[in-house]
Amino acid sequence: MKAPLTTKQVMRYNRQIVLPQIDIDGQELLASSRVLIIGVGGLGNAAATSLCGSGVGKITLVDEDIVEHTNLPRQTLFDETQVGHSKVAAAKARLSQLNSDCVTVGIEASLQSDNSQLADTHSAEINNDELISEHDIVLDCTDNTQSRDLINRLCYKHGVPLISGAAIRFEGQLFVAKPGESQCYACLRRLFSAPELSCTEAGIFSPVVNIVGTYQALLAMQVLMGVGSVPLNTLLTFDGLQHEWQQWSLPNTMQCDVCGEQNKDTNNTDG
Ligand SMILES: [Zn+2]
Repeated sequence: MKAPLTTKQVMRYNRQIVLPQIDIDGQELLASSRVLIIGVGGLGNAAATSLCGSGVGKITLVDEDIVEHTNLPRQTLFDETQVGHSKVAAAKARLSQLNSDCVTVGIEASLQSDNSQLADTHSAEINNDELISEHDIVLDCTDNTQSRDLINRLCYKHGVPLISGAAIRFEGQLFVAKPGESQCYACLRRLFSAPELSCTEAGIFSPVVNIVGTYQALLAMQVLMGVGSVPLNTLLTFDGLQHEWQQWSLPNTMQCDVCGEQNKDTNNTDG
């Protein structure tokens, strides 16, 4: 499944390949990886830029929004001439210029909610199951808990690792979920059921969302290449005013209807 790199690619990605943890093998793994980015706002922009530049083979972008002036401070794939245009199309065009090795696919739609057959929206049809299962990893770059819950359920259903990011005000959050190996986003949500606020209402400091999105890309590439260790069952938080990263361990639980059954074998260590 891994294709050998060309000489030109070996030269292009040399600064990564010289890292012994990555080497040619790691770079080839990246080149053969398919990444799904759901949400092409601040998080998705930063994550896609890093993943595309680093040499991921395929990136699929999903979003139904158009570029607005208020996006420009954070969403650096877009420029003033693209206001009013599709985010997915604008991001795809920019990423293709950044790295022609990376195949970019744009889907101008949102994931169908569970009851979409009753009240469908204007968005195009997406087959959620096909979309998730044909990727090696999913980055949740959305901004609402309904989408986050749906993406989490789909990732566990299809055994696809999930890198979830969130940013608001000066604060960022990251969570990695690996089906069969770790607790899921629903487990996290049970513990931190914070009231839903959007960046429109609460505000967002632009660099914070860029940091979190780029960190999602870092975690994704670690998982794809099997490099180092990725924090599982752990919420990572970042405070952009006090400059503190913190890790919060999730208590072991068997009661989750999303991941409980899958993790039965890995969680039964007395917890
Ligand atoms: Zn769970």
